[in-house]
Amino acid sequence: MAKVLVIGAGGVSSVAVHKMAFNADIFTGIALASRTKTKCDAIAESVKQRTGIVIDTFQIDADDVIATTALIRQVQPVLVVNLALPYQDLHIMDACLEAGVNYMDTANYEPIDEARFEYSWQWAYQERFKAKGLMALLGSGFDPGVTSVFATWLKKHKLDTIRTLDILDCNGGDHGQHFATNFNPEINIREVTAPARHYLNGQWIETPALSTKQTFSFEGVGPKNMYLMYHEELESLAKHLPEIERIRFWMTFGDAYITHLTVLQNVGMTRIDPVMYNGQEVVPLQFLKAVLPEPASLGATTKGKTNIGDIATGYKDGEERTFYIYNICDHEEAYAETGNQAVSYTTGVPAMIGAALMVQGVWSGAGVFNIEQMDPDPYMDMLNAHGLPWQVKELAGPLEF
Ligand code: NDP
Repeated sequence: MAKVLVIGAGGVSSVAVHKMAFNADIFTGIALASRTKTKCDAIAESVKQRTGIVIDTFQIDADDVIATTALIRQVQPVLVVNLALPYQDLHIMDACLEAGVNYMDTANYEPIDEARFEYSWQWAYQERFKAKGLMALLGSGFDPGVTSVFATWLKKHKLDTIRTLDILDCNGGDHGQHFATNFNPEINIREVTAPARHYLNGQWIETPALSTKQTFSFEGVGPKNMYLMYHEELESLAKHLPEIERIRFWMTFGDAYITHLTVLQNVGMTRIDPVMYNGQEVVPLQFLKAVLPEPASLGATTKGKTNIGDIATGYKDGEERTFYIYNICDHEEAYAETGNQAVSYTTGVPAMIGAALMVQGVWSGAGVFNIEQMDPDPYMDMLNAHGLPWQVKELAGPLEF
């Protein structure tokens, strides 16, 4: 019996739960719990219509560790898949420890009152998971997730050592809205407006948010402006691939997105500290989230493709080589399969794959692990088999910028 409990019922969860149901030989039972039970029921209904499989649904506030522990004990899963928000990570890890169950997520913890996401809080659980013989797998989405596995696969099969790594995240989709984010708006805007940071020769170099721009031509999408950003996998990759001299993360944004974001920032709407309004405390960014389109609602109108991958330069048998490894995902095809756009799809499929490898015991261990510590091969095979095929090609030389 490989029963899983998924927590959170947004776009990423919807894709992961559909994909789990499509693989009922691996996931013999699926339970879904979230803050708003109606969202769990809507996902369960869609899954039932598409597959005939029945999913048990529950209401839970995952910040309530006692209630979450009780729910885990009631459901008795072998794994809890956390697809709620990064704020819930530590509470769900606490509940897993208490109930004696393995844990997996797609995004690292950040405190709600400070836009500072880093692994230190979750790495601090290492000894507690180890002592209980439990496994916590961190970051099984696309980035972090697939991009980290791409790096370890390149190191295993194409390069002896990696000298520089650039992660390029392009969403060439058009949702027809003036301004919307393609995953949780609060988390997305906190990430994009944070200062950029990249790793160079053992140091973190910080530059103002969205101040470094390059144009890159993405297969399936075309030329796009991409901006240097900080992203959580830089921290864990710098730790687990210690020979790397430079790691950078780039994400594409259209001019309209940048213009809207600049205005929202200038007028204070991206602030995360509370302001008083009509005698009530309001956090501007949370209010902004409430008026923006729900990412899960963008699926039906989004057209175009995503292209996300890694460019790695390193040495093979003493010779410098550069490889580009990437996946192209089509928004409309993703929507046809699970009712969600490609950004949810490219995160939810790897979440299902990480969970599948854990429940089957292909990936195992006691302690807290980042995904790049695992053998990349079974994950790479499953990406090809479950909707995210990847390609690798050799480039003539390193990136020129
Ligand atoms: P959504 O905002 O669409 O969904 C989040 C879900 O979590 C909602 O159903 C929400 O409930 C639920 N939730 C929030 N707080 C709680 C709580 N206290 N208890 C229980 N449930 C709660 O987000 P996405 O689906 O877009 O993203 C999900 C996760 O995936 C995020 O952590 C995000 O950072 C991560 N992600 C990772 C990526 C990667 O590549 N690694 C890429 C994209 C996203 P309610 O409906 O009531 O608000």
